[in-house]
Amino acid sequence: MGRLSPIQDRIRELADEKDVLILAHNYQIPEVQDIADIVGDSLVLAIKATGTPQSTIMFCGVDFMAESAKALSPEKRVIHPVPGSRCPMAHMVDSESLREFRAGYPGVPVVAYINTTAETKAEVDICCTSANAVKVVASLESDKVIFVPDSNLGLYVQSELPDKEIILWPGYCHVHSDITVEQIEALRNEHPEAKVLIHPECTMDVIRMADKVASTEGMITYARESPAREFIIGTEEGLVYRMRKEIPDKAFHPLENAICPNMKKIGIEDVLKALEEMGPTVGLDPEIIERNRPPLERMLSL
Ligand code: SF4
Repeated sequence: MGRLSPIQDRIRELADEKDVLILAHNYQIPEVQDIADIVGDSLVLAIKATGTPQSTIMFCGVDFMAESAKALSPEKRVIHPVPGSRCPMAHMVDSESLREFRAGYPGVPVVAYINTTAETKAEVDICCTSANAVKVVASLESDKVIFVPDSNLGLYVQSELPDKEIILWPGYCHVHSDITVEQIEALRNEHPEAKVLIHPECTMDVIRMADKVASTEGMITYARESPAREFIIGTEEGLVYRMRKEIPDKAFHPLENAICPNMKKIGIEDVLKALEEMGPTVGLDPEIIERNRPPLERMLSL
């Protein structure tokens, strides 16, 4: 951690004093990323949520991420500083509609992107993240797979696994769906040497422009290991702060307007208040927790 402001210093003091692990998603604002113990994508943070000694986890990300941390570590207190920070895509599918939908495909397994509510995860066979979606679907014996809720990610998986039939749900992430071919082309014209990194929540016409399709964590690894010096970052702009900080000798070009308003709802004052009050906490029905663990643990075991 570099030099912190007084409020950030106070947060670190309180977190250590109260035995709180602070996790922050790559799309969080810089001030929040800077006070986190771990910054990462959904997969990294889900793994870290299970294996750390602290008695409390504070999750700076959107609602489903905090819920997954609670499902994986039910004995811990999980704090979500701003409960109104919700992923709209995660709410494009619900348990009842999914039950009805899957009844039309008897015996076909359901893969849920981690961007789903705990109630939805309780209905599915296995979870995935953008980092492991192809691997998860490939691991299933069935030729047909129902994939919810991100139709863009589902189409990308389909393009990588042509022998499978992926049955899609019509959900999408508005931030990634709004990224256009023209935007990428304009940046590529400005920075002809740059490699184009694209998140698989983007549409297929944008994905086809990529030098590398990757999750946010995958983008960082690629940029670190690549001989290239410049990169166009086809995902939410929050990631660029972390890339510039961790890989200072390379250049990263963000997309204008690729901003998730829900991820930005958590401010540094919210984190301080939540630590002082040790809440708001995430409460999940014990039955939902029980039914969330198998699909999440199946994914983590891969
Ligand atoms: S960037 Fe998209 S998928 Fe991620 S939280 Fe925002 S709306 Fe949801």
